[in-house]
Amino acid sequence: MKKPGIIWLNVSVFVITGLITVIGVPVYAFYHGFDGWQITAMVVGVFICEISITAGYHRLWTHRAYQAHWTVRLLLALGGTYATQNSILHWASDHRRHHRYVDDKDKDPYSAQRGFWHSHIGWMLRHYPATIDTEYSNCRDLKQDKIVMWQHKHYLPLVLALNFGIPIALGLWHGDLLGMLILAGAARLAISHHMTFLINSLAHVWGRQPYSDTNSSRDNGLIALLTMGEGYHNYHHNFQRDYRNGIRWWQFDPTKWLIRSLAWMGLATHLYRTPLEKIERSRAQMLLTKTSRKLAGLPHADLMILRLQTEYDILLKKINAFSQARRLWVEARKTVVQESYDLDALKEKASELRENFMQQKKDWQVLNARIA
Ligand SMILES: [Zn+2]
Ligand SMILES: [Zn+2]
Repeated sequence: MKKPGIIWLNVSVFVITGLITVIGVPVYAFYHGFDGWQITAMVVGVFICEISITAGYHRLWTHRAYQAHWTVRLLLALGGTYATQNSILHWASDHRRHHRYVDDKDKDPYSAQRGFWHSHIGWMLRHYPATIDTEYSNCRDLKQDKIVMWQHKHYLPLVLALNFGIPIALGLWHGDLLGMLILAGAARLAISHHMTFLINSLAHVWGRQPYSDTNSSRDNGLIALLTMGEGYHNYHHNFQRDYRNGIRWWQFDPTKWLIRSLAWMGLATHLYRTPLEKIERSRAQMLLTKTSRKLAGLPHADLMILRLQTEYDILLKKINAFSQARRLWVEARKTVVQESYDLDALKEKASELRENFMQQKKDWQVLNARIA
């Protein structure tokens, strides 16, 4: 079968910025050197590019995980333009298809099933049918967003203005124009590109699958370090509307921290969090499946699976009891006649049941570890 035509503009951008980064940067560093200002301009630039994609393009626009004040949306749109990963509308359209058809070789634009190279960068180098939807039919909601449409309409001039304008302005101010163009211009772009691309490639092959293995997405703390928290990709594929990717306090998710800070300042609202019981049900189900698979074929497997199933059922019951109690408390808090409820008692009950299911969860995990 004939391969689709090459997209020369994309190939040129990736090749030129890539070559400058791996050859130009060390050569220039050897003969001329970079100073702290130039390195800072690059590091800050990478940070702005990455976080505008994760907090803006990804969690705000594609998944509508929260709502943001227009000033935040404008800044994220400009930061995302500086990152040069196509317009918000185009990016979101591709990404929504990625979630909908994940791992489908024909419909997922960056399907991991087509190999590492394709999911990382190859999918952008040719006119593959999965990446063409000029109507952006799955992004009707985003067409109502004036900032999204403004950025889409003026995308190319904006990209050129920011990608040349910022490094040139910084270079003129700093005094070493070429050095700034190499580091804050080209290297910043190439590094931030590949860090984002890792989410489509590496985060679909390397890591754990605590929530589901019905798709190839993985949780990987190391990838989270490089991608502003998006390495918890197995969680994300299962609970895509959540504004968080790393849900534990110790998981590195600066995108979540930024969104939470914006909310604290009153600049972000409606932060969506997946209910705890939903998350825990998925985890428990996945663990049951994994342990049962390991046991299959072993002597006395039936007995052990029965034991597992019993403990699993108890866990589910306890999770459901907590879920119900919490719902009661939340509903009571929302009513206008709050006085008719003992809110403290309802809250107390919910947290007691939470403790209860958490204890069962621990026992459940210990049992699985012992049996497996
Ligand atoms: Zn994915
Ligand atoms: Zn996503």
